[in-house]
Amino acid sequence: HAVGLHEWLSRRAARVPRQPALSCDGTRWSYAELQQRIERMSAVLAEGGVTSGDRVGYLGFNDPMFVVAMFAASRLGAIFVPLNFRLSGPELAYVVGDAGIHTLVTGEEHIAVIDSVRDKLACARFIHRGGGSAGWEAADALMAQPLAAPPAVPASADDVAVIMYTSGTTGHPKGAMLTHGNFWANNLNEMLLWDMVSTDVTLNFAPMFHVGGLLCGSLSTLMAGGHLVLQRGFEVAAVMQAVAEHRVTVTFGVPAMLLFISQHPDFAQADLSSLRLVAVGGAPMPEPLLRLYAARGVPVHQGYGMTETASMITFLNPDRATDKLGSCGTPPLLTEIRIIDATGEAITEPGTAGEVCVRGANVMAGYWNQPQATAATFTRDGWFRSGDVGYRDAEGFLYICDRLKDMVISGGENIYPAEVESVLYDHPDIAEVAVIGAPDERWGERVVAVVAPKAGKSLTLEALQAFAETRLARYKLPRELRIVEALPRNPTGKVLKARLREQNRA
Ligand code: ATP
Ligand code: MG
Repeated sequence: HAVGLHEWLSRRAARVPRQPALSCDGTRWSYAELQQRIERMSAVLAEGGVTSGDRVGYLGFNDPMFVVAMFAASRLGAIFVPLNFRLSGPELAYVVGDAGIHTLVTGEEHIAVIDSVRDKLACARFIHRGGGSAGWEAADALMAQPLAAPPAVPASADDVAVIMYTSGTTGHPKGAMLTHGNFWANNLNEMLLWDMVSTDVTLNFAPMFHVGGLLCGSLSTLMAGGHLVLQRGFEVAAVMQAVAEHRVTVTFGVPAMLLFISQHPDFAQADLSSLRLVAVGGAPMPEPLLRLYAARGVPVHQGYGMTETASMITFLNPDRATDKLGSCGTPPLLTEIRIIDATGEAITEPGTAGEVCVRGANVMAGYWNQPQATAATFTRDGWFRSGDVGYRDAEGFLYICDRLKDMVISGGENIYPAEVESVLYDHPDIAEVAVIGAPDERWGERVVAVVAPKAGKSLTLEALQAFAETRLARYKLPRELRIVEALPRNPTGKVLKARLREQNRA
């Protein structure tokens, strides 16, 4: 079957050539126009020597060229490597070297950062989307040449399509090798679970160099023949405008994005009535925020996923939204989960927490260049270890407690910061909160709340404790309060707990 990214897309394009496929700012392409650009770009890449197995990098904001470069690379059997535009020059040099990128394509905003480390890069070719600069070739001019597209290389399910670096929330980003079969599986999972159809209009404002932006809704929209609307970056007011303007039906955000949207003065009045599904995941979702969206009539549903599993592991379907509030649902058809204890034995009792493991067609082939890390992350019987702690209820619904690495152990009790944060988010004076552990002579670790108060508000530890005391066991109450202006977050919006822990020690 047509498992390759470029294969299913070209079949779709042949079926619905005139349907809108991709919009971004002033660009609006039909499926035929998108397909034509992909073929031209694959001719350009091939002419520069890109062949099967080579890596093609992309550094830039969400942009039609991102999509074109990915499918064009795929058409040649090459591997696409999206790069994080928040990285510094030396960090980028590391990733470009690690991935062994042959041709690097960038948006013009990122030419300077690449030029700052040009002498450290072994790429054969540098292409930018537009503009002009020494040592770079302009994609527009290249694509206007009369080059014949080489024949498409068929892909098998096990061929690597994309090397996607993890968010780097807990340490250095790792390159997850995602295969054509992984993408295919996630698209099918989404299409079956979210009822993706050709009339869907999906808005993508999450960065596409992470699985959330690239996979949650975006590619399944193209597979279904729907209309994908890209936003270059995340801007709260622009998101609400785009939803109203394009009558957006589906979108995805991480909790921080939904938090910032809900705090915008236009939120109460914005026309969000076209939305039929807003998927949220990527980090713990505070329950007060779920309730707030439910009260506003916006259908926000939690999912759980990660880079290594080509996004979705579980999803909470809308019809269970109220009775399972706080759960991230159950696995889709092509995915299975299991919870294991510290000895690796499967836990079957409902309510008992352990490490969540995943198996299925969406699980990555391994980490690029890291056989040891790959071996360590799979159990002997082939389950992928997520590094997250969770439990299932009697009906099999999954609840994520937190990351194993973020768990606080105080006086021998396991405390999940996400649970404490969820309670504190109900406090009227708190804009953002993160809970971390700090070394404690007596208890091993103690709970620290790092709080950004709402404008003009102040808080004391005693007041915070009094607020939380009726809803949390005593040992989970914060013992220390740190006030900050804003929490440090990575480009996807996740709180950098490792940095908070360092700052707290300093
Ligand atoms: P790194 O692996 O480099 O430290 P990362 O784990 O943040 O970064 P991603 O693959 O983008 O990189 O994120 C996956 C992680 O996000 C999961 O392992 C989990 O900890 C967290 N996560 C995702 N969805 C949820 C959810 N619904 N609830 C709680 N946590 C979630
Ligand atoms: Mg991770």
